[in-house]
Amino acid sequence: NKMSGAEIRERFLSFFEERGHSRLPSSSLVPEDPTVLLTIAGMLQFKPVFLGQVPRKVPTATTTQKCVRTNDIENVGVTARHHTFFEMLGNFSFGDYFKKEAIGYAWDLSTRVFSLPADRVWVSVYEEDEEALTIWRDVVGVPPERIKKMGAADNFWASGPTGPCGPCSELYFDFHPEQGTAESVTLEDDSRFIEFYNIVFMELNRDAAGKLEPLAAKNIDTGMGLERMAQILQGVPNNYETDLIFPIVQRAAQLAGIDYHAADPLTKTALKVIGDHTRAVTYLISDGVTPSNIGRGYIVRRLLRRVVMKGRLLGIRTQFTSKVAEVAVSLSAACDPQVAAQAQRIYDVLALEEGAFSATLERGQKILEELLAKAAVSKVLSGPDAFLLYDTFGFPLELTQELAEQQGIQVDTVGFSSEMEAQRQRSKDSREDVDLTATVNLSELVQAAGPTTFTGYEALKEASHKD
Ligand code: ATP
Ligand code: MG
Ligand code: MG
Ligand code: MG
Repeated sequence: NKMSGAEIRERFLSFFEERGHSRLPSSSLVPEDPTVLLTIAGMLQFKPVFLGQVPRKVPTATTTQKCVRTNDIENVGVTARHHTFFEMLGNFSFGDYFKKEAIGYAWDLSTRVFSLPADRVWVSVYEEDEEALTIWRDVVGVPPERIKKMGAADNFWASGPTGPCGPCSELYFDFHPEQGTAESVTLEDDSRFIEFYNIVFMELNRDAAGKLEPLAAKNIDTGMGLERMAQILQGVPNNYETDLIFPIVQRAAQLAGIDYHAADPLTKTALKVIGDHTRAVTYLISDGVTPSNIGRGYIVRRLLRRVVMKGRLLGIRTQFTSKVAEVAVSLSAACDPQVAAQAQRIYDVLALEEGAFSATLERGQKILEELLAKAAVSKVLSGPDAFLLYDTFGFPLELTQELAEQQGIQVDTVGFSSEMEAQRQRSKDSREDVDLTATVNLSELVQAAGPTTFTGYEALKEASHKD
């Protein structure tokens, strides 16, 4: 009798409602806050309250917040626990309760509402936060060997370089208690532990000069990953196989003619990427973001192109993204009732973008075949050739590599990189050096690149008009 995702969400929200919290709606993925591109946490809609810029409307609140984190894009389908889009459940105190109550709530919720065995929950505290440590040990009664002190990188939370922040304390679930509680055990071992809940003691503000000042009030900001709690309670090996996401992944598998459970790890990863990214773009488009070459629109474009590319690599030959998105829409009601009403528009946006990118890929593929024929003897596709495909035909390097490898041909990626570097030198502030499938932090990239255009595709469009 496993708890469904919907039930987990509802139990979390009603637990806090029963304790006086106002249940408030999720805010849009497009934040009002101009300093961040997308909503990355539940606290964002409350930032002005934490900063004391606007008066609190209620003393305490609980939400389930739609979030997108592009910094986790490379983790998708690779770790068991990271998505681009996920739901963050949260309880918030605006100068009302603080550390002791917040820790008590998190413990009761985890062990009573979700029935996690007490001896399988570990906690981390910020190394300088003796108060939190004492509460966990002496008030809650967690044995000291299951409380780990961690440094600022993990246990000092901030929504960005400036703004409200503070020490935090995180709860982890132990999948392998039989491995014991030796001093050497680390919560970073993700084959054993999963972080599921973070309590931020939001009592500081970092200003533009980097200086920390106390906020007017001591606040609580928390985040519990819905998909992660579902993974724990449903006893599945990763977030993707929970009822919140697996039907989307399964639709992708079905369209590719693949049996998910029999598939090899790389194929599973590709299916998870398709499921995750399609879910993300479904919600992003619903919130009004459409594919473009800048800012948020570029994030949607990049996510979608990764979906199309993975689909190709799995052998899907027809337009498929809107068929996968149908499942994401069908699962969206309890998280975001707006999505279903936007369904047709979402499918239309997907079809248009997928069509354009597929045409690009088709052209590139013809050129690639010629280049591969040329490389048949040397068994190496040169850097300049791979770069030509990428730069002129918008053909992602990852795809070039996969297709070349199928014919036993290696791609000279070092040569590719030096071509890329040469290009970068030629056009320092241009967008042409942005690999749509590159392994770089996307939000950094979008910010760094600014509002310029990716002329590779424009040139291509012009070329095809002339045909
Ligand atoms: P991790 O260390 O696993 O990357 P985090 O410390 O970056 O997580 P927080 O910023 O503390 O995460 O966010 C609060 C909670 O939101 C986490 O405890 C987790 O349950 C959930 N969460 C964070 N990032 C993701 C993600 N990319 N996908 C799914 N859930 C997430
Ligand atoms: Mg993280
Ligand atoms: Mg963490
Ligand atoms: Mg955390």
